[in-house]
Amino acid sequence: MTTETAPLADAADSGTPEALLSVHDLGMTFPGPRGTLRRRPGVRAVDGVTFDVRPGETLGLVGESGCGKSTTGRMLVRLLDPTAGRVSFRGQDITRTSQHRLRPLRSRFQMIFQDPFASLNPRQTVQQIIAAPLRAQGESRARIRAEVRDLVQLVGLAPEHLERYPHQFSGGQAQRIGIARALATRPELVVADEPVSALDVSIQAQIVGLMERLQRELGVAYVFIAHDLAVVKHISHRVAVMYLGRIVEIGDKRQVYDHPAHPYTKALLSAVPLPDPVAERTRERIVLLGDPPSPANPPSGCTFHPRCPKARARCRTEAPLLTLTAPGRQAACHFPE
Ligand code: SF4
Repeated sequence: MTTETAPLADAADSGTPEALLSVHDLGMTFPGPRGTLRRRPGVRAVDGVTFDVRPGETLGLVGESGCGKSTTGRMLVRLLDPTAGRVSFRGQDITRTSQHRLRPLRSRFQMIFQDPFASLNPRQTVQQIIAAPLRAQGESRARIRAEVRDLVQLVGLAPEHLERYPHQFSGGQAQRIGIARALATRPELVVADEPVSALDVSIQAQIVGLMERLQRELGVAYVFIAHDLAVVKHISHRVAVMYLGRIVEIGDKRQVYDHPAHPYTKALLSAVPLPDPVAERTRERIVLLGDPPSPANPPSGCTFHPRCPKARARCRTEAPLLTLTAPGRQAACHFPE
């Protein structure tokens, strides 16, 4: 992956009028397991998440497995209903809109899933899969056929693939089909949930390159979810880092990668391989102790404190707020870099 995307203007603040998507104080608490007498307290999987996505930009959403990034992604497109906060699309609050009233908007935001095979109906041909969102819009048969032919070529497949079934494709090709389906209605926003993590590294680069090209050609915005900072670096204009259900750092890509403010971001970045072998050999690697704590039983104060190399007494009692640490970048740390 060699292409770098030009950074957009600073968009770390929330609620900017030109935002395509505005997320404010978003939360998801899953019901706790049933105890012998009553239900145990709920699990707060996402808590107080706030960010904007501007038209045509990519926001990378990164964090270890279980940090709440996929739950957040699903709430953005209302595949999950948030238990707190607000999601607005083009200024319209869609948080509690009924699924029926949401239907006309659905074509404008779509999702790409991690496992392309699990998300494609094995009994349908590629033609039927890609045509489904267009049929739902009531397009004519002739229009749908023409559109589907255009879409397969747009994602680098051939017209003869249209009559085949998902199992006849490689993982990378199947993800191209998923991308074509997501783009069929020409959405303004696509939430891509770990779209390359199930693929070989060489194929990952091709899919990320394809998504970058499609963004340039179609102007679509992405929320690109990944656990690997190396993957999102090349496609993102801005990056948000999540830990235990909260955003701990968000900002312009160059700010976050070149001068990370949060110790967690710093640790994640120290594990990203460097292209220069000398720099790679001599770099400082920060190894985090232990696994992320369970969201069912989060640590007090700053939830990162049991693993943080910079933790002090204050960190154990007082939760840091996400605050501006530099133009275009916010971090939730009492002692940011
Ligand atoms: S607030 Fe303290 S524990 Fe949390 S990240 Fe900052 S230094 Fe580490």
